[in-house]
Amino acid sequence: MSTGDTDQKKCRCGYERSHPWIVPKPSYSIWGWILVGFGISHPPVAVRFECDKCGEVFETITGRDSLKHHIYR
Ligand SMILES: [Zn+2]
Repeated sequence: MSTGDTDQKKCRCGYERSHPWIVPKPSYSIWGWILVGFGISHPPVAVRFECDKCGEVFETITGRDSLKHHIYR
């Protein structure tokens, strides 16, 4: 079931994902770490959005389709 979730989650400071204080922290599988270590872009298995100011992790993305949009080097 799709909820069509468009609500922007916010940390306790009120910052959304797109705010400069918000740092995406990707988590990779072992294989993913190897690929990324070689400089090969690879989708993470999860991305946590952490506020650099208050340290709160207010959102975690684990969906495969969503993660395609979160490839980091
Ligand atoms: Zn915050």
